[in-house]
Amino acid sequence: MTRPQRVNVVPHTHWDREWYRTFQDLRLALVEVLDALLDDLAADPALTHFLLDGQVAAVDDYLELRPEREAELRAHLRSGRVATGPWYTLPDEFLVSGETLVRDLELGMDRAEELAGREGAAMAVGYLPDTFGHIAQMPQLLARAGLDHAVVWRGVPGAVDRTGFWWEAPDGTAVRAEYLPTGYGNGARMPDEPSAFLARLDAWIELVGDLVRDDPILLMNGTDHLPHQRGLPPLVDAVTAASAGRFDVGLSSLQEHLAGAPTDGLPHWRGELRSSARANLLPGVTSNRVDVRQAAARTERVLEQEVEPLWAAFAPAGLWPGRALDVAWKAMVRNAAHDSVCACSHDEVVDAVHHRYAEARQIGDALLAQGLRLVGAALAGDDQVAVNTLPRARGGLVRVSRPGHRPEPGEQLLAATPPLTLLHTLPATAAPAVLESELDVRPPIHGVAFVDADDGALELHLQTDRTARGRFPARPSVDRMRSLADAAPHRVVRIQVADAARRDVLRRVDGVPGYGWAPVAPAPVAPVTAADRRLANGLASVEVDAEAGTFALDGHAGLGRLVDDGDAGDTYNHCPPDRDVVVDGPEAVVVRMGEPGPLRASLVVDARYRLPERVDDATSSRVGGRDLAVSTVLELRAGEQFVRVTTTVDNVCEDHRLRAWFPLPQPTRTSAAGCAFATVTRGLDVESGPTETGVATFPSRRFVQAGGLTITHEGLPEHELVDIQPGSGATALALTLLRATA
Ligand SMILES: [Zn+2]
Repeated sequence: MTRPQRVNVVPHTHWDREWYRTFQDLRLALVEVLDALLDDLAADPALTHFLLDGQVAAVDDYLELRPEREAELRAHLRSGRVATGPWYTLPDEFLVSGETLVRDLELGMDRAEELAGREGAAMAVGYLPDTFGHIAQMPQLLARAGLDHAVVWRGVPGAVDRTGFWWEAPDGTAVRAEYLPTGYGNGARMPDEPSAFLARLDAWIELVGDLVRDDPILLMNGTDHLPHQRGLPPLVDAVTAASAGRFDVGLSSLQEHLAGAPTDGLPHWRGELRSSARANLLPGVTSNRVDVRQAAARTERVLEQEVEPLWAAFAPAGLWPGRALDVAWKAMVRNAAHDSVCACSHDEVVDAVHHRYAEARQIGDALLAQGLRLVGAALAGDDQVAVNTLPRARGGLVRVSRPGHRPEPGEQLLAATPPLTLLHTLPATAAPAVLESELDVRPPIHGVAFVDADDGALELHLQTDRTARGRFPARPSVDRMRSLADAAPHRVVRIQVADAARRDVLRRVDGVPGYGWAPVAPAPVAPVTAADRRLANGLASVEVDAEAGTFALDGHAGLGRLVDDGDAGDTYNHCPPDRDVVVDGPEAVVVRMGEPGPLRASLVVDARYRLPERVDDATSSRVGGRDLAVSTVLELRAGEQFVRVTTTVDNVCEDHRLRAWFPLPQPTRTSAAGCAFATVTRGLDVESGPTETGVATFPSRRFVQAGGLTITHEGLPEHELVDIQPGSGATALALTLLRATA
């Protein structure tokens, strides 16, 4: 007689904190779901397990509105009847930094232990049921957090032919991965009638075929935002009885299932999981909202590479700004949730994501300024110093404010107008008296400029010049301010002082030691020159093609060609329309001089393109026409061997994808891109699946390299090797600047 096949039913819910509904809307739904769950846990001892989605945020979100049930929920977390963690939120792995993933795990595991009141309370499973593909180093991240198991769905390649496989990171660390062949809802809403339950189970077994064999079956009883299924304990017993010895069905925790899952003879996979073969990967999330990608990258940079190293290296330990950083990181980790950062969401959700990034960055910016003041206070003397928050020695341009009017050798004068210092922000009615006292106490003032600021405020620039003689007659300016205040009493007024005896200049510093500092003494460097559509600094030269709007770097031409094609897809997937129109050249180009050098020089390429306005759904073709203005700044700095490119687009068209193409010095079949704690090499081919066409667009973190060209960037643009020639490979790399789908 054969033994019955074990079926482990794991009751759970998958809780996207925010997505097509706002956070607060979904949280009120979460309160209903967890209220009902706690009621049933109290009433029915046979309800032995519930998986709260592997993310502790759901617990905190609930308890904020239901503090009266905290003791009850904590008791279930302590006993393990309710499992949560190890994550704080279930992250997207490609759209946030490796450090953010580490903080997400740390926060989740610490908070799970705190709530449960015992060590090791977080679920010891790297549960990633819905994430849009998985980074190469995830096995290493999980193993270093003490986790031996991963649970994944999207991105698993066709080569994996079991529900379990060994997943290895580039460093060689492997974890056992449980593959959910049809996702995390294969046991959601099971029929209440045993024979119907069995029919559904048999249909699933037939669907997944050899993937499961006679291994224990994992039935994930729950899905997106679903309440727990009532009456489950007696139902599974009835199903076992009705199966006539074929199945042994029971409630289980995910950890219990994995403890009994096979480990011998499993397939092996090394590196990232980005295949469309078995489930929709949704790769277009990398390019749907470049503004969110840029906000994420900027905030990660200030926290990870500036503030934390600065304070760790230079500030006394007792001053470590731990609480402020915790607030910033909590915002980062909340944003890391896959349906938050992916930005395939309600507009209000994307606004909330931006707001969290802004707050985290504001904390970072403020701590950076405070930290630099601490360094300054600790250093004797008045010399300005450059501080390096990275481990390697480096140099570059720094902006300094110093006395005097003219540039000295090795400097570039920045602002023709003197630098401004804000003294007061106040309503117009209060301004005349304050202005009068400032003019009284702050000689030598030699003029007051009234300036209408862009934000609607009135700015008063008090001009000071230590060389001026005589006393400035204050009365006319005060009278003028009084009459302006009478006309607009609520207008915001900013009183600023402009020190005409100071100037902002650029200087180049060299060899600032890693985690160290050096005086800002101008370093000798060959100047950069700008003339006649050409920039040169002795190390690199840039020349603009004024017809094509492209540029050459050291004679390698055609770089930065903008190519616009149609996109009939959505925020998750790019999809070319049936009848596409590809625009790959401008209607008009104007090249003008930006900065002149000698340390920083730039050319500005203003181009006008004529693009179809949208994709007509009925005919799947691009229709209409609009002008699109694109401004590209090419900047070369003294002492640098690369060109900096900044492209600004005010998008006016729908349903399209705008990419910058870079012809490669040599054709290639591979690209290498930065990823979380790894460089990942990808080829030209990707797997397709029954419901998604694989596309060879990939994310890169900070850099991508192909065919002798390296592009570094902030934000996370997707790239693709394009213009593939039979026999030789790709001849260009395309970088997505924006994808706009309606
Ligand atoms: Zn999800």
